[in-house]
Amino acid sequence: MHAKFLFLGTGGSLGVPVVGCHCHVCRSLSPLNKRLRPSGLLTIGEKSFLIDVGPDFREQAIRYGINDITGLWITHTHYDHIGGLDEVRVFHVLHRKRLPCLCSKETFDEIHHRFHYLFRKRSGEECSQMDFTFLPSDFGQIVFEGVPIEYLTYYQAGMKVTGFRVGSFAYISDIRKYEEKVLEALKGVDILVLSALRYTLSEVHFTLDEAIDFGRKVGAKRVFFTHIAHEIEHEETSAKLPSGHTLAHDGLEIEFQLEI
Ligand SMILES: [Zn+2]
Ligand SMILES: [Zn+2]
Repeated sequence: MHAKFLFLGTGGSLGVPVVGCHCHVCRSLSPLNKRLRPSGLLTIGEKSFLIDVGPDFREQAIRYGINDITGLWITHTHYDHIGGLDEVRVFHVLHRKRLPCLCSKETFDEIHHRFHYLFRKRSGEECSQMDFTFLPSDFGQIVFEGVPIEYLTYYQAGMKVTGFRVGSFAYISDIRKYEEKVLEALKGVDILVLSALRYTLSEVHFTLDEAIDFGRKVGAKRVFFTHIAHEIEHEETSAKLPSGHTLAHDGLEIEFQLEI
């Protein structure tokens, strides 16, 4: 099946430029150095799935003409990944249907706590605008809106994070420590979207070198880095990357075939 992935945001939690920063990347005029908070739109045939809904979602939806989505997949509940959850209510306003959302039970519980007002009982439904499906385990498969999805789990500073895979495509964000099982679950992935924060060490994110190493362990043919901080200048870094590795930028769209 024909598929495409649009990078809606390729920045880290602060975005680029960073408020108040005068570094050469934050001052750069190149659009390749402007990064909204991390998110992507995976289109499979006629269906489109939003992966994470950061605080820049409204701007991203307007910029890229996103008027409807089939569903939302949420990796975890740090603000840069769910801060725009209120903004997807617009799809309910437009289409009068509850938005199917997929996440772990832990992610749902945290969303329920932080966005409690979305869950006020109305017309007998606990949440009238979103329809949550929980992943039943840490690793496995689920059919969501007719699409077979594989999922896997790792932890970022104690928070459960979900990685998603459809056929030979995978989206893995906010990863540093992981069990060997994660690599097994990614065996056969050709196109890997992977977070790589910066050059210098982080406790909770891969550096660029660690991300390159992870992509090699997976054996992916094409690796796209996202969740990028202001330490990384797009063109300087792109020129140094090994073949098959791409520093993504906001608005980059890749097309591929999925055997599903
Ligand atoms: Zn993040
Ligand atoms: Zn900066």
